[in-house]
Amino acid sequence: MPVLPKELFKKCYGRYAIAAVNVFTMEQVQGLFHAGETANAPFLVQITPAARDYAHSIMLEAIVHAASKIYPKAVYAVHLDHGNEEHAKDAITSGGYQSIMIDASHEAFEDNVKITKRIVEKAHEHEIFVEAELGVLSGVEDNLSIDEKHAKYTNPSEVERFVQLTKCDSLAVAVGTSHGAYKFSGVQGIQFDILEEIQRRLPNFPIVLHGGSAVNEEEVQRINRAGGQLLKNATGVPPQEIARAIKYGVCKINIATDTRLLWTRVHREFFRDHAPLFDPVIPGKEYIRAYSDFMVQKFELFGATNKASEFIN
Ligand SMILES: [Zn+2]
Repeated sequence: MPVLPKELFKKCYGRYAIAAVNVFTMEQVQGLFHAGETANAPFLVQITPAARDYAHSIMLEAIVHAASKIYPKAVYAVHLDHGNEEHAKDAITSGGYQSIMIDASHEAFEDNVKITKRIVEKAHEHEIFVEAELGVLSGVEDNLSIDEKHAKYTNPSEVERFVQLTKCDSLAVAVGTSHGAYKFSGVQGIQFDILEEIQRRLPNFPIVLHGGSAVNEEEVQRINRAGGQLLKNATGVPPQEIARAIKYGVCKINIATDTRLLWTRVHREFFRDHAPLFDPVIPGKEYIRAYSDFMVQKFELFGATNKASEFIN
């Protein structure tokens, strides 16, 4: 059953976080919906422009719609991840999304405001929730000095003005996490002082954490034992930092890298151990099962287990 993200975040604020999981394939959608029903946990199905390019936007929306029939107890919303204006407008008119992200964070503050505001006005006409981003998340690279890194973090003194001007519904912030399997190779961990200041300035306003994967060390080792060549410094967000971030108003935590690592591990081990096989259905079933088990654990970590019932009248 699709629910409005506004309702999800109103209920979870400060108590638990909604996992927003990037999906690219039928197997991932199956695994996610199965996990949501099993754990009785609400979730966001997240679709990136790259996913829409790969499977086709119509195909992905249809897969998600089908999953909601196969798993009628699943409580979820569909979200466009990292859309530009064109993607956002397309998602607004497609009818398949309850929520979109407009990402103009690479623009200067005033241009970010202008672009975000335009999309918010359009989205709100259709009762669609809008996440915006302030601060540069993916640009935090190893070779930057500490001062340069701080320049990329969300500046807490800008957040109230940004939200007031744009009327966005949630805010993705740059507080130390990054996309991919190599988070924190420079500065360590989530910058809680920044997160705390953002919460003080935006009380009860839903904050979004991108790059929330754990990058489990054992998974990385298993991939490498099965022929992978991931680097030793692959790291993610430690579980205790997730729990702490939720108290500071983080309502939505994005997960992509972990499910990609899982895909790689399942398939590498499968073909290593079953070299004569060539049927996609057999490892596919294993991946769906592993994906569901993985997400059930993730919902538990985010405190979302058994919370789906809060949204069913
Ligand atoms: Zn992101």
